[in-house]
Amino acid sequence: MGNSVVSDSAVRIGVLAVQGDVREHLNALSGLGEQVCGIRRPRELDDVDALVIPGGESTTMDKLVRAFGLQEPLRKRIAGGMPVYGSCAGMIMLADRIAGALPDQETLGGLDITVRRNAFGRQVDSFEEDLHIPAIADLTTAPRGRPTTFKAVFIRAPWVEEMGDGVQVLATVEAGPAAGRVVAIRAGNLLATSFHPEVTGDYRIHEYFAQMVHTALRQTSTALNQHCAERQGTDLYDRPPMSMTVRPSREKR
Ligand code: GLN
Repeated sequence: MGNSVVSDSAVRIGVLAVQGDVREHLNALSGLGEQVCGIRRPRELDDVDALVIPGGESTTMDKLVRAFGLQEPLRKRIAGGMPVYGSCAGMIMLADRIAGALPDQETLGGLDITVRRNAFGRQVDSFEEDLHIPAIADLTTAPRGRPTTFKAVFIRAPWVEEMGDGVQVLATVEAGPAAGRVVAIRAGNLLATSFHPEVTGDYRIHEYFAQMVHTALRQTSTALNQHCAERQGTDLYDRPPMSMTVRPSREKR
């Protein structure tokens, strides 16, 4: 990394720890060699470069995020380009719009999508499906046998009902009545899945997110270095150092 302002080893990924599958995400990321920590207070957010919003219950998570004074700081960091991965309820928290929301339910937003809560219906609260996800197929943490598919676990999951132009589809349901429904997306530094990769032992989604985080931070540090280099060309840096311009004091003469 040479003269980067932010070295890769300094990168820290937080997991929003107000509710839900917090420990599983911390374990998945630390198992990949990432530095991690749970985030419950606004000031703890300052210590991280990226964030995972776990699955759980978006209505509860929304209330707790507001009660802990996290809503505005989180919205600011998301708007500022912080990489964030939202799984299931986390996907709902990142959505700009919700179908099937409770009347007072709010989100953090950032993703130009409408998610439908509990989209797969009450009869099918939970199910698993092997999905083809080309973006993660060849990552190094693939389980034994290097499966070409990813076992996606859905638990009262949302799907993406509608999305803006900048949103890239990473995976859709492949069989059954919900075939074609969008369940994994990326837009810039934001990643979201309807399913729970933290419970399967296959950490390719986490690896993909970690790569996104390191790439985003490298780009930030390159931009900062470039900004510094440009400023070095200005007269501010061309002036001789202060010590050379200060006249010797009378006493010393
Ligand atoms: N149905 C939940 C919600 O609306 C999400 C479920 C999950 O995260 N597993 O928030």
